[in-house]
Amino acid sequence: MQFKDFGLENKLMSTVEHLGFTAPTEIQQQAIPAAMQGHDLIASSKTGSGKTLAFIIPALQRLSKNRALSKRDPRVVILTPTRELAKQVFSQLRLFTSNTQFKAVLILGGENFNDQVKVLEKEPHFIVATPGRLADHLTQGHFYLNGLELLILDEADRMLDLGFAKELSQINKAADHRKRQTLLFSATLEHAQVNDFAKELLKKPKRIAIGGAFTEHKDINKRFYLADNLNHKESLLKYILSNETYQQVIIFTATRSDTERLANMLISEDLNAVALSGELNQGQRNQIMESFSKGQNKILVTTDLASRGLDLVNVSMVINFDMPKHAEEFIHRIGRTGRAGSKGDAIAFVGPKDWLSFKNVEGLLEQTIKFDQVDGLKAKFKGLKPKVIKTKIDSTKAKKETKKQVPKKKKAPKKVFHAAKDVGDMPVIKRKKTLSAEQLENSDLDEVE
Ligand code: AMP
Repeated sequence: MQFKDFGLENKLMSTVEHLGFTAPTEIQQQAIPAAMQGHDLIASSKTGSGKTLAFIIPALQRLSKNRALSKRDPRVVILTPTRELAKQVFSQLRLFTSNTQFKAVLILGGENFNDQVKVLEKEPHFIVATPGRLADHLTQGHFYLNGLELLILDEADRMLDLGFAKELSQINKAADHRKRQTLLFSATLEHAQVNDFAKELLKKPKRIAIGGAFTEHKDINKRFYLADNLNHKESLLKYILSNETYQQVIIFTATRSDTERLANMLISEDLNAVALSGELNQGQRNQIMESFSKGQNKILVTTDLASRGLDLVNVSMVINFDMPKHAEEFIHRIGRTGRAGSKGDAIAFVGPKDWLSFKNVEGLLEQTIKFDQVDGLKAKFKGLKPKVIKTKIDSTKAKKETKKQVPKKKKAPKKVFHAAKDVGDMPVIKRKKTLSAEQLENSDLDEVE
């Protein structure tokens, strides 16, 4: 199938050709004709599958073919969970609108509110936005949605996970009329809140599921390394970054404070690294992302904040310095490489703290993962095996009993697991030392000999 088979309006078709797109991707093959027929859609597609054009193209087709319902109101609103993704969508949209009469604007949280009011006064046809800020402008009457023709929700699962349900409902209600079409994209359709939400927003939607949402990306070569501890992970990292070839690398850490520490460590090794650290304001973050996307830095160290939406074609390697908490996040992280048909390496370090997450990823990928090794940096750690279930049950019981025996007047101490001295002579679950929530989770596991 080719783009020309969709019967796109001439100008739109020549833009598609001019941008060098010939064959539509799978999601585009299914979503573009269905959306062009006016159906509401609920679609899943894996990251990097070309879903942005799957909604931009039918949106432009609709605007070119139909008369506007209102002269002043936006005709298309595209909502995304993160600023990074919104910018990404906006830059693809601009490629299509730059030679048309259609105006597109970007409305993001964390940016100057009054400047945005002025932008909205210019009566744009397209608004790409994060939901919180757009809902604020709507509440304050800076624009209206009576003329909205197309509402597009990109990564709806993520927007709901981030707690934007109220804002999405508000936007939906403000544009609730017969002629509105809605396209909902989600990484997974197996998400209860997405399905409930779809009932509220969509009219007789067509359901499009491209493969499993988490089917393997064949262009990404995954490698896993066991690691004993933080020092061991750092040695593995230095080894890989000094000995392998790559264009650009994104390193994901569990905490924001680690990003800066790791970046500094790499800089001291003469590697061109930069951190997207927690302390930065939005402007500084934007600057770093921009310089990284221009290739001014080779290595970006970040947390999951950057794991979605970024379309950085030169990222040929992703390193999970720490495994993500949620297995699905792993898929989003590694989807930052292998974009648009290029090859990528996805590396992960698995230490004792990462073990549960690793097992979840293994389950999600539905495969038994074998570990790679670096000569001279072999791990003593070989994985954890679950203790017999009895231990868990016993420990749950013990926790309950601990609670029961707290004298009524005294408040139960928050950190039950600190040490016996915290709770007088109460029976406590003895731990050798203070455990973090994560360690606690892992502590029902024994090391494999
Ligand atoms: P997305 O999944 O929308 O973030 O798109 C991922 C990348 O694929 C972007 O760089 C797009 O420009 C590119 N892309 C989208 N559609 C096509 C296509 N039909 N052929 C080749 N590349 C595409």
